[in-house]
Amino acid sequence: MTADIFKALGLGKTNSGTYLGRDEWSTSTEAGTLQSINPTTNEVIAEVHATSAADYETVVARAQEAFKIWRTTPAPRRGEAIRLCGEALRKHKDALGSLVALEMGKSKPEGDGEVQEMIDIADFAVGQSRMLYGYTMHSERPGHRMYEQYQPLGLVGIISAFNFPVAVWAWNACLAAVCGDICIWKPSNKTPLTAIASIKICNEALKAAGFPDIFFLINDAGTELAEKFVDDKRIPLISFTGSTAVGRTVGERVARRMGRSLLELGGNNAIILDESADLKLAVPGIVFGAVGTCGQRCTSTRRLLVHEAIYDDVLATLVKAYKQVEGKIGDPTDPSNLMGPLNSPAAVQQFLDSVAKAKASGGKVETGGTAIDRPGNFVLPTIISGLSNADEIVQHETFAPIMYVMKYKTLDEAIEMQNAVPQGLSSAIFTQNLKAAEQFLSAAGSDCGIANVNIGTSGAEIGGAFGGEKETGGGRESGSDAWKAYMRRQTNTINYSDSLPLAQGIKFDL
Ligand code: NAD
Repeated sequence: MTADIFKALGLGKTNSGTYLGRDEWSTSTEAGTLQSINPTTNEVIAEVHATSAADYETVVARAQEAFKIWRTTPAPRRGEAIRLCGEALRKHKDALGSLVALEMGKSKPEGDGEVQEMIDIADFAVGQSRMLYGYTMHSERPGHRMYEQYQPLGLVGIISAFNFPVAVWAWNACLAAVCGDICIWKPSNKTPLTAIASIKICNEALKAAGFPDIFFLINDAGTELAEKFVDDKRIPLISFTGSTAVGRTVGERVARRMGRSLLELGGNNAIILDESADLKLAVPGIVFGAVGTCGQRCTSTRRLLVHEAIYDDVLATLVKAYKQVEGKIGDPTDPSNLMGPLNSPAAVQQFLDSVAKAKASGGKVETGGTAIDRPGNFVLPTIISGLSNADEIVQHETFAPIMYVMKYKTLDEAIEMQNAVPQGLSSAIFTQNLKAAEQFLSAAGSDCGIANVNIGTSGAEIGGAFGGEKETGGGRESGSDAWKAYMRRQTNTINYSDSLPLAQGIKFDL
C-alpha cells in the first residue's frame, strides 16, 4: 500500500526536502537527513535530505525574485492559480489523505478530511481574491478623496506542527498567495513527506498553467535552520503553528526584528455540560473531541465540567463509550479503526508521566491510563476524575487522549473554571437553556477564540477565523477577514482641488 501511495504522489525512499524554485529540487546532502517514521510501527517510511545553508539562500533569493512578478499579477489571476491547486488536490485527495494517515497517524477519514480542508480553503481563497476590500473615507478637506488599500506583504514564512501536517499550510498559503505573497514552508520534522507531496501537487498544477513559483519548501533536521528562518529580516511575516513553549520564543524573536508573527499555539479546551444537556448530542461530541486524532488536536477536549446533578450518570456513560472505542484502536489506515497511535514514543512517555502526575495529585483513573502492549505508540483513551481545575497537571496541555472530568454547582462557577487556564483556544457548552447559552457567549462568558453551543470543542469550519487568546497566541487564520494578516494596509489621500488645505485646519502661510 505504501508503494501505491508513493507512486501516486511521486515520492521515493529518499527525497529532497528543498524546493528551490524553477522546477528544481536540491540534490545537496550536506545538511543531514530527516526520517519519516510510521507511528503505527515506528518503522522508517522514507528519508528526506534537509536544507543546506546555501540552498536556503537560493530559496530566499528566488522567492524575492518571484515576489516582484507576483505582487503585480492581478489578484483574481492569483485566485485562478489557487483554483488550479484546489483542482489538483481534489485529484490527489485519496493518496494524500492516506499519506497523512500513514505519516502522522490519524485515521484515514481524518486524513482525507484534512485534504478536504485544503480544497475548501483553496475555494475560499479564489473568492477572496476578488474581495481584498479596503474602506473609502470622506475627507475633512474639500476636493480630497481618501481611501485605504491592502498591498502584498512579501515573503511569508510558514512553520507548521505535526498534527495537521498539510491543512495548516494550506490555510496560510492559499490566502497569502491570493494576497500577492510568496510562501516558504518549513513543515514539522516529523512530517516531511506530506509536505513534499503537497508542494509537488500544487507546483505541478502551477507550472502546467505557466504561473511563477509561489510555494517554496525547506526542511530542517534540527532547529538551527528554523531559528535562522525566524530571525530572517527578509521575511516580514512568520506564521507559526505549534506548542506554546516554542511559539513564545518564535514570537519574541520575530518581535525583536520588528517583524510580524501569527501565532497558533496550544489549547486546554473545556466542555461544560449543564443539567439540561441533550446527552444524545453531548456524548459523541465529547468522545470525538477527547479521543479523535488520539487527543492530538489543538482543539481536543481536555477538560469536562459537568453539573453535579448529572455527574455520576455522565461519567458512567462515558466510561462505557470509551470501552467501545478501545475495541477500535489500531492501524489508522484501516478505515474501521476510530483511534490510531500517538505520534512518537516520546509522546507515549509524556502520556504516562501525565497519568502518574494526575494520580499523585489525587486523581482517579476511571478508564484507560496505560500504553497498549503492541508495536507502535498506542495508548488507551483515558478519563481522570477527582482533580481540581487549579491542579498543575489540569492547567497543562498534554498532547494525548487524557480528559479530566470535574463537577460544578452553578454556571458562573463552570464559566470561571473554563476560563481559569493559561490557554484560550476552544470551548463549548451543551445546554438546552437559552439563558445559559447566551451567558456562555456573552462578554462575561467564555474567553476563548472559539465558543460553541451544542457542538464540541474539536474541529472547525474553514469559513470562520481560527485561533485563540492568551497563551494560544492571539493569531487568526483561515476564514472571515484573516486574509488581512498577509497584507500591509495603506491609507491614500488624493487632492483634486486647486489649493493645499492642511489637515486639522492648520495654517502655514509662506
Ligand atoms: P512544536 O512546537 O514541537 O513544533 C512546531 C513547529 O516548530 C515544527 O515545525 C518544529 O519543527 C518547529 N520548531 C521546533 N523548534 C523550533 C525553533 N526553536 N524555532 C523555530 N521552529 C521550531 O509542536 P508540535 O509538537 O509539532 O505540535 C503540537 C503543538 O501544536 C500542540 O501544542 C498543539 O496544540 C499546537 N497546535 C496548535 C494549533 C492551533 O491552530 N492553535 C494547530 C495545531 C497544533
